Amino acid sequence: MSAIGSLVFCTDCGNLLDGSAGDAKALLLCEVCGASNKDTSSKVVITRSNPSAFPSALRAKRSEVQTLTEEDMQTDATIRQTCEKCGREEVRYYTQQLRSADEGSTVFYTCECGHK
Ligand SMILES: [Zn+2]
Ligand SMILES: [Zn+2]
Repeated sequence: MSAIGSLVFCTDCGNLLDGSAGDAKALLLCEVCGASNKDTSSKVVITRSNPSAFPSALRAKRSEVQTLTEEDMQTDATIRQTCEKCGREEVRYYTQQLRSADEGSTVFYTCECGHK
């Protein structure tokens, strides 16, 4: 069986190619997309695919996910603010971007007692 260190993946479609003979000059043929791949098992994998070759929709989706993650980290936290209902000195708060960009983001405070 092949060791993990000798796995070679197709640079075009990511398909796992059949084991290598350890010959750096050998070309491995991808069974999925038919692309010829250099046997990179014995050295650092260099992807020759141009990043711009990826579908723009896929890239947009990825950046969208990253943006959401950042917002989640920023918008859910606690702040020293006294709840006017139960007197708790620390409440959770989050910001929410309203539909109109002109109105900016609104900060909401929520207490564990349910008071907003
Ligand atoms: Zn392939
Ligand atoms: Zn409260």
